[in-house]
Amino acid sequence: MNFISTRGGNSVDSAARAIAQGLADDGGLFVPERFPDLSKNLKDMLDMDYPERAAFVLSSFLEEYDKQGLLEACKKAYGKFEEGDAAPLIKIDDKFYILELFHGPTLAFKDIALTILPYLLREGANKAGIKEEILILVATSGDTGKAALEGFKDQDGIKITVFYPDEGVSDMQKLQMSTQEGENVNVIAVKGNFDDCQTAVKNIFTNKEYIETLKKQNVVLSSANSINFGRLSPQIAYYFSAYCDLVNGEEIEFGDVVDFVVPTGNFGNILAGYYAKQMGLPVGKLVCASNDNKILTDFFTTGSYDVNREFFKTISPSMDILISSNLERLIFEFSGRDAELTKKRMEELKKDGIYNISEEEKEAIEKEFYADFTSEDASRNTIKNFFEDYDYALDTHTAVAVEVSYGYQSTVDTDNALVIVSTASPYKFAADVLKSLTGKEENDPFKASEKLEKETAMPIPEKIKELKNKPVRFTKVLKSDELFEEVLNFVK
Ligand SMILES: *Cc1c(COP(=O)(O)O)cnc(C)c1O
Repeated sequence: MNFISTRGGNSVDSAARAIAQGLADDGGLFVPERFPDLSKNLKDMLDMDYPERAAFVLSSFLEEYDKQGLLEACKKAYGKFEEGDAAPLIKIDDKFYILELFHGPTLAFKDIALTILPYLLREGANKAGIKEEILILVATSGDTGKAALEGFKDQDGIKITVFYPDEGVSDMQKLQMSTQEGENVNVIAVKGNFDDCQTAVKNIFTNKEYIETLKKQNVVLSSANSINFGRLSPQIAYYFSAYCDLVNGEEIEFGDVVDFVVPTGNFGNILAGYYAKQMGLPVGKLVCASNDNKILTDFFTTGSYDVNREFFKTISPSMDILISSNLERLIFEFSGRDAELTKKRMEELKKDGIYNISEEEKEAIEKEFYADFTSEDASRNTIKNFFEDYDYALDTHTAVAVEVSYGYQSTVDTDNALVIVSTASPYKFAADVLKSLTGKEENDPFKASEKLEKETAMPIPEKIKELKNKPVRFTKVLKSDELFEEVLNFVK
């Protein structure tokens, strides 16, 4: 299948190349030339397990990958999840479910894509005839970094450098990254917020001279952020899987429409839901939930994307983002796949920090999406009330989605089943979850975990306990203009 750039300047003839390259030459994002229609296959997927469903969805895009190889790789990747299910669906109440995506090696939903991405990238590079060493550069708001490090550590022919905002991640997230093992990994704290990090990394990707310099050292760049189609595509599968589980559990009739509520940052997760719908999954509304950094809520309600605003540090740091990269893929679709227009808007965004979409586009988007945000206090109250009502501890990000879902249900008259996409274990944000539940401050992340365990009777994940005894390997803090040199030194 061909993949085209959202900015029109670069198309490639295979998913393999799109994944190996990560970002299009013109700075745009690769999108599939068309969406495969899986509506006729949906019945067959009911009887599959998660790795089979994932391989099935992936192979509809990744035509040049060997089907059996993909299946084996999915089995291996999703075998790393607790209890052998990468995406269990939990019934909370009548027509109300939580899709738990945090049982992987790093306890956030990023594992769904990053346990399989190394295989997709390795194979993709082979198929695309790339012989150079691959350097993965990752900008992270906390969870992608760790999941990517874990996925790519000690992979032959691949090196990885992760950049995270110095003051923008939770203590547990920071520890997870700074103690990372592996000979081919590097972790850097960057002064500033996630947007500064992401922009610095994008500047490396689009600097032709710099890329030539790297090439002379036999290095090519790729990305493990959700700008890479190889990150996005594995995420489509869990929407299909949740639907199948609802049918199999006789919670819905086959063909019924289901709504999904997604705690959103870079717009990768929810975009995968939209792609699933384009592929024939009966999805009703996709509900985009934001924290105080509510740029997406404002965009969906006004049609104006405006980053000229205050940036807030919140208790849901993985959603503290103002420049949502994957929104580019959405506005590309709703512009009628107009690459010129998309390019123009992205240039306006870069220059003035703002672009507008037309009234027609806004109305078309409103048919598919509902967007809202919650305050910090409301998120904290939701964690507390939800635990009292259902004996279930939400993490700080999932709490945003739950709170927004209440507003959605009281505004929109709907009978649809509602699935909350849960993105992290509460133990990744133990101090804030504990404070929400008990009102007590505990700044030491391990003590907070122990107290949270007592409070909730939910066992602390092994991966959290292990961290306590691991030596810190990475302590560098750099300014964003120092990253170029750091990267060059790392590949030398
Ligand atoms: C990454 C992340 C999000 C945001 O997902 P996007 O795909 O960037 O919208 C939400 N919650 C958690 C816990 C995350 O790690």
